Amino acid sequence: MAAMKIQSVRGMNDIGIEDSPLWRYIESHAKKVFDAYGFVELRTPVLESTALFKRGVGEATDIVEKEMYTFEDRNGESLSLRPEGTAATVRAVLENSWLRANPVLKLFYIAPMFRHERPQKGRYRQFYQLGVEMFGPAGARADIEVLALQYLLFNNLGLQDVELRLSSVGCETCRPEYKKMLVEILTPQKDHLCEDCQRRLETNPMRILDCKVEGCKKIAKNLPAMVDHLCEICEPHFNEVRDGLVALEIPFKVDPSIVRGLDYYNRTAFEFVCTSEKLGAQATISGGGRYDKLVEDLGGPATPAVGFAAGIERLTILLEEVKDKLKTYVDICFINADEAGKVKTLQLCQMLRSRGIRAEMDLDNKSFKAQMKRANKLEARYVMILGQSEIDNNVAILKNMETGEQEDILLTQIEQELKDRFPKSVNFKL
Ligand code: ATP
Ligand code: MG
Repeated sequence: MAAMKIQSVRGMNDIGIEDSPLWRYIESHAKKVFDAYGFVELRTPVLESTALFKRGVGEATDIVEKEMYTFEDRNGESLSLRPEGTAATVRAVLENSWLRANPVLKLFYIAPMFRHERPQKGRYRQFYQLGVEMFGPAGARADIEVLALQYLLFNNLGLQDVELRLSSVGCETCRPEYKKMLVEILTPQKDHLCEDCQRRLETNPMRILDCKVEGCKKIAKNLPAMVDHLCEICEPHFNEVRDGLVALEIPFKVDPSIVRGLDYYNRTAFEFVCTSEKLGAQATISGGGRYDKLVEDLGGPATPAVGFAAGIERLTILLEEVKDKLKTYVDICFINADEAGKVKTLQLCQMLRSRGIRAEMDLDNKSFKAQMKRANKLEARYVMILGQSEIDNNVAILKNMETGEQEDILLTQIEQELKDRFPKSVNFKL
């Protein structure tokens, strides 16, 4: 009896041979942009103490309340698979004391995250985020930098129909007043709110503003906006962010419903959203904002911070048509008519590959015909035929597969001839 096939875990995907070139395209563009803005890579473990996320993300958030993969390890310690990158970044920054020597600390990550959500298009249980966190500066220019970075990245990737939605969620001075106002207005209408929002009314009333349930959306539309009730520090900060975006000609919309799902944000909050139908209900590409209290909440010195995270799977959905352009080609495929040319082929392949040229050869003692077939399938630009008769005549045949032209190359000069013909690989286009 055949063994039962074991399948992948629901909501967790392989990034397979059809998709990985696009992932590489996205990640290499992202790394170039991160470099230009001076962000350095951070890799944290996939597992952290559950307490980190309870404290860092917030007990009353969807993530901690219902989406975390939490389990006890063999020692009885509660661990969780990382659901987002910020809390772990702050933990690492404090544990390694990086703030001491770096008054402006800029970090980026590209990493898998885990949330037990209902899998659907653009929403998975293991998904990847690319993001940055900047620690130190309290001023609006840091917020502008993080926004401008995303704008540049999405532009460089060739994304279309992307819209920046901007808001301010205030601070500990103005937010409590505003929350009180919300509770006063919403309590008499409590019965019309969804179950989650009835609870949020007690725990986190601002979250009602971004509830996706229709009834709640209707009620939220008529509520006063945080951006109209900012204090004398938050208001000029918000204005400076807006002015900076205008100066950089980055279009945006003020959207008071952007409150972000996580507890730790203050002042600037934003999302980049796709306005086309391509992402369906999962239209948000990236989200983030300022979180000036989180470092302190996690036991560090008071340190302002701002960051964002973008979902890579959602980017791949939007960039589906780029896939064709990312096809790689074989520069040269060697064909061995018989045993005689094999050693030379091995040496020439190694020489070309050491120069970054994509060279292929027969690995399996296949027939001449089968080797030619493979060269065609690989869409090799050139093939070189090497066998006993070529060695006897001191020539190898180089065939241009696009034009069909053939050349005889003197074997005694073959290395130099190949170096001249392949100064760089066709695949080096990114
Ligand atoms: P959503 O409202 O779509 O659930 P979120 O507010 O939970 O998003 P964040 O925690 O801000 O998302 O994460 C930033 C980005 O990470 C999102 O904008 C999205 O692109 C991506 N993302 C979040 N959750 C998932 C998921 N389950 N699957 C795939 N991508 C995700
Ligand atoms: Mg979510």
